[in-house]
Amino acid sequence: MGMYFIISGLFYSTMLNCVYHSKKHVDSDETRIFSSLLGLNLIGLILELFSSIFGQSNNVSVLLSAIMTRFYILYLMGFLLLFTLYIYIICYKTSNDKKILYFDALKKVSYVIFYIAAVAMIFMPLRLHSGYADGMAVDFVYLCSAACMGIWLLSMFKNFRRIKKQKFLPIVLFIVLAGIMSIIQRSHPSFTVMTAIQTFVIFLMFFTIENPDVKMIEELNLAKDEALKASKAKTEFLSSMSHEIRTPLNAILGFSNGLLDDTTEPKILEDAKYIIDASESLLELVNGILDISKIEANKMELVPAEYDTEGTLDSLVALAKTRLKDKPIQLKVSFDEDIPKRLYGDVSRLKQIILNLLTNAIKYTERGFIEFKVDSITKGDRVRLIISVEDSGLGIKKEDIDKLFSKFTRLELNKNISIEGTGLGLAITKKLVEMMNGKIVVQSEYGVGSKFIVALDQEYVECKDLQLENPPIILNKKVKSFDNKKILIVDDNKLNLKVAEKVLGPYNVITTLAESGVEAKEILKNDSFDLILLDDMMPNKSGVETLKELKEENPMFDIPVVALTANAINGMKEKYLNEGFDEYLAKPIDKVELARILNKFLN
Ligand code: ADP
Repeated sequence: MGMYFIISGLFYSTMLNCVYHSKKHVDSDETRIFSSLLGLNLIGLILELFSSIFGQSNNVSVLLSAIMTRFYILYLMGFLLLFTLYIYIICYKTSNDKKILYFDALKKVSYVIFYIAAVAMIFMPLRLHSGYADGMAVDFVYLCSAACMGIWLLSMFKNFRRIKKQKFLPIVLFIVLAGIMSIIQRSHPSFTVMTAIQTFVIFLMFFTIENPDVKMIEELNLAKDEALKASKAKTEFLSSMSHEIRTPLNAILGFSNGLLDDTTEPKILEDAKYIIDASESLLELVNGILDISKIEANKMELVPAEYDTEGTLDSLVALAKTRLKDKPIQLKVSFDEDIPKRLYGDVSRLKQIILNLLTNAIKYTERGFIEFKVDSITKGDRVRLIISVEDSGLGIKKEDIDKLFSKFTRLELNKNISIEGTGLGLAITKKLVEMMNGKIVVQSEYGVGSKFIVALDQEYVECKDLQLENPPIILNKKVKSFDNKKILIVDDNKLNLKVAEKVLGPYNVITTLAESGVEAKEILKNDSFDLILLDDMMPNKSGVETLKELKEENPMFDIPVVALTANAINGMKEKYLNEGFDEYLAKPIDKVELARILNKFLN
């Protein structure tokens, strides 16, 4: 009967070893001990099997049988020591510990005990019977087992609170079962089931006590948390870096634009244009890196709102015209007449997508035409916009089409080296289109031209009021004069104040400067203004706090306040509108945006 137990134990142990070692598991003291227990148990079963067979067979020499039995007893000693180490781990390990106190010392003591037992095993008397053995060596193991079980039970109950419940029960069950079996085996020595019971407990431990996959998931979760923290730190770093870079850029752009208005000296004009071009590419790069890092950190959110379609498309055409400068390119525009007047979607992202395609067409076309087409298909409240931008430019080689949307990838660098670019535009465009559940495709013939087509859905909005909130921006027109309108500019940075004053110069407004929220509040006590440009990031009192106090102290406060900030992380506009600002103006100040805002509030 004992033989059946040994054979089935052998079967389970082999399977368990195969399964355990074929899987990846965490490398810890606990798993190492568990792995040794598994291996040792298999060896024990083989030894027990052979010593049983040899003991019952008359053809095998007594010496061989004795060696097998002694090895088997040694195995039992090894198992006791390993199990003691395992109990020590589960009793004294806390989840944060990388190293368990005194564990290495205990391991060394166990090795010493094992070697002493191995030597003692050679000399200790042993009597062999048919199928079992007795004598001093066997008594010694029984004694050690009883001592170990006592120690295990004591430690388990003493550390009851620390031990995880699922570990506690099977081990106590094993100790009790092993105790009972030892007593039975002592009175019926041929009933050899001890090793099979050990297999059974290791089997239970595999599923309920020590599940390496669960530990792997725990470790992975920890790693994920770490990665998320790092990514958050990266986004925060980028946000502050953007702020830091945008502040001096604001000054560079403001003053060089001022030079264009102030001087007629050709050399200075030419240099100022170079400075403006370089600053604008730097700004584009900062914005691109910000966008891509936001997308990769899954922080990019769409902010849908109702918008005026015609005004939006017209403003894009106007921007494209200014970017064309004096290139000999014909800009053809065709918008489907059926496009609803008002749509619901993230208009700033839609503009970003289209502007990227138009800008690329302009950059990579020397002469010929650029065709900007928008068609629409309306189905219920869904409006599918089909936007296409075609050019007669450089074209893209077939083998390069796949690389087009990878970040920081620029094609044909030998030809395009003089064209400013970061290789981020199309990567961002594609991600934005995908976020809007749309599709982007490219058709291109090298040397002939390219066509980028974007299809995405927006929501239909019933058009009740045809009057536009923001009239389309007409560029290249002389700036409007807002004579005698009073504007208060608040910024802690003197250079920024000068820049704001300079860009407002052509509008003939009266500007007052304040270097802090406190100063602004003082000025507002005695004077009235038509508009306030209020920087947010100021020491002591931020723009948000200043505005809050102004509104709390004077419930009648009705001067329009525009948030002026270099913090260009997406979603900022919405944040400032929620904080009670009437508009948002990013630094470096964009002339077109400034014109729109002045038109909105000073008309
Ligand atoms: P960037 O224009 O800043 O280099 P993009 O991601 O917008 O980066 O474009 C990646 C590359 O794809 C460009 O460097 C250019 O080689 C190529 N490309 C993009 N649009 C066009 C186009 N309309 N015609 C020809 N090549 C283009």
